[in-house]
Amino acid sequence: MNFEDFARACEKLEGTSGRLDMIDIISRILPGLSPDDLPVFVRFIMGRIFPDWSSKKLGIGPNLLYVAIGYVAGIKKEEVIEKINRTGDAGLAIEELLSIKSQTTFFREDLDIVRVYAELIAIADMEGKKSQREKLQAVQRLLANARPIEGRYLARIMLEELRIGVGEGSVRDAIAKAFAVDPDLVEHAIQALNDTGEVARLAKLGPGALRDVHITLFHPVRMMLAQQGTITDMIKEHGQIAAEYKYDGSRFQFHKRGNQAKLYSRRLEDVTGSLPDVIEKLLSATDHDVIIDGEVIAIKDNKPMPFQSVLRRFRRRHDIAGAQDAIEIVPNIFDILCLDGETLIDLPLSERRKRLEQVLKRYIAPQVVSNDPLEIERTYKTALDAGHEGIMIKVPASPYSPGQRGKNWIKIKPEVDTLDLAVIGGEWGEGKRAHVFGSFLVACQDAGKLVPLSRVATGLSDEQLTEVYELLKDRVIKKSGKEMSFEPGLVFEVGYSELQTSPTYEAGFALRFPRFIRIRVDKDVTDIETLDSIKARYQRQSKSAQAYQA
Ligand code: AMP
Repeated sequence: MNFEDFARACEKLEGTSGRLDMIDIISRILPGLSPDDLPVFVRFIMGRIFPDWSSKKLGIGPNLLYVAIGYVAGIKKEEVIEKINRTGDAGLAIEELLSIKSQTTFFREDLDIVRVYAELIAIADMEGKKSQREKLQAVQRLLANARPIEGRYLARIMLEELRIGVGEGSVRDAIAKAFAVDPDLVEHAIQALNDTGEVARLAKLGPGALRDVHITLFHPVRMMLAQQGTITDMIKEHGQIAAEYKYDGSRFQFHKRGNQAKLYSRRLEDVTGSLPDVIEKLLSATDHDVIIDGEVIAIKDNKPMPFQSVLRRFRRRHDIAGAQDAIEIVPNIFDILCLDGETLIDLPLSERRKRLEQVLKRYIAPQVVSNDPLEIERTYKTALDAGHEGIMIKVPASPYSPGQRGKNWIKIKPEVDTLDLAVIGGEWGEGKRAHVFGSFLVACQDAGKLVPLSRVATGLSDEQLTEVYELLKDRVIKKSGKEMSFEPGLVFEVGYSELQTSPTYEAGFALRFPRFIRIRVDKDVTDIETLDSIKARYQRQSKSAQAYQA
C-alpha cells in the first residue's frame, strides 16, 4: 500500500466521528491489502508502530523530528517549533512546511507502508554513540520523500500521536466485518497474540487460522485484571470460589524455554535485567517451558515489605548485587498461560491450577476453594494479619482473559476507597511550595476519553511534590495564569472517604477528602479507573449506606 493511500485513509477517518462509519471505512480497505501490508496498516491506523507485545521504542524525541523537518524544509528548528505552536498540531505544521518545499522538489521516491515500517524498525534498532545522528539522517531521508499529506501522518506516527480516534475495538470489528469472521474470535486472537496487526493477517486466511492461535513465548500477553466486589456476591453467584492472598508487590509474567527466561512487568516491559534473583528462582522451580503469571513481593525478616521497595528494585539497573542483600524478592505464582507449547488460557482456572501444581515445584500462591463465606473471611483475616493487601477471589470455571478487567477476578481489601487516576492538570503551589506544582487535576476514563473528576492537593510531602514536579515539568501543554494542563501519562492513586454526585467536574462525581496516596509508576493512562466503575462504586456505596441506616 502506498503511504499516500494510507495518509488519505487517515484523513478520511479523521473527518469521521461515528464509530460505525470508521469501522466501515477500515473494513473496506482491509480486503485489498497484501499479507505484508495488513499488519503494518492495522498498527499504523491505531497510531502504533510495533506489535503490542514488543518493547521496541523508536527512540526519537520531538526535538530530533523538528531538526529533521527543519533540514528538509530548509529552515531552522526554531522556525519549525514556532510554526507548530501557531497551528497547534505538529502534523499540520509539517504538512504545510513540506508543501512549500515540494514546489521546488523534482525527484522523490514513492513511499509505501511496508518500506516505512522497515525504516522505522531500522531507526529503533540504531544503538550506540552515533545512533542519534544516524536516526536523524534516517528520519530526514523519510521526510524528504514524503508528500505533504504523508508528512502529516508520518510525523504523527513518529511522535506517537496519530489522534485520528481509531481504537482497538473499532479495528477488531473492522477486521471481523472485512473478512466475515466472528468478532469474538478476532478478540480472542488479539488477546492471545497481543498484536492486532498479525490478527488481521490471520483473519484474511480465514476463521481456522484465527481459531488456531497460540501464545508465543517471549511475546508477553496482557495481564488479566480484577474488579471490586464482595465475598457474599461471589458465593451467591458462583457457589465455590477460589481465594488467594492479594500480594502487595509488582505483577510479572515469566516466560521460559529451556534455560532461557525473561520477565515482563505489568506494562509488559522487559525487566529481566533488574531481577536476576527471581529469574534464578523460577528457572530452578520447573523443568518445563512455561508462561506463568504472578506477583513479586519484597520480604524482610519474614514480613512483606511495602510496595515501594519492590518498585525501587524494578527501576534499579545498577548495584543489583547490593540491592539483593537488603531485601529478598519472592515470586508468588497464581496462574499458567502456556505449558510446553500448549496455550492454556481457555481452560478453566481449576484446570490451569492443576497444571501449575504439576509443573512448578515452588512459589505457588496458596489457594482456598470453598463456598463457605466464613472460611473465605478467615482467609481474608489471615492475609491481612500476615501483612498482605487483602484477598483475590477468582471464579474456578473462568478462562484467563488477557487485558480484561472482568468479574471473574474480584479484589477484596480494606481500603476500597482508592482510585487510580490520570494527572491532567495542576496549579503552582503557594508559599514555600511556590516553585513546584501544589494541586492537581485528576481524571478517570470513559470510552477512551479522559474525564476530570477531582482536585488533589493533600497527602504529598515536600519530597513527593518535588518528585512529581520533576515528572510533570516537561509535560506542560497549556498554561493560563497559575493553571496548567499536562500531557497525560502520570497516574496517581487517590484515596477518598466518599463518592458524591457533583456538577463541578465533567465526570458528574466528586471525591470527598481526596488525598494523594502514591504514584502508580506501574500503571499508565489506559489502566486508570473508568467512569462506569466509578458509577458502580457509587451505587454500591449508596446501597451499603442504606443497609447501615436500616
Ligand atoms: P489492583 O492493582 O488494585 O487493580 O489489583 C490487581 C492486582 O493485584 C493485580 O494486577 C496483581 O498485580 C495483584 N495481585 C496480588 N495478588 C494477586 C493474586 N493472587 N491474583 C491476581 N492478582 C494479584
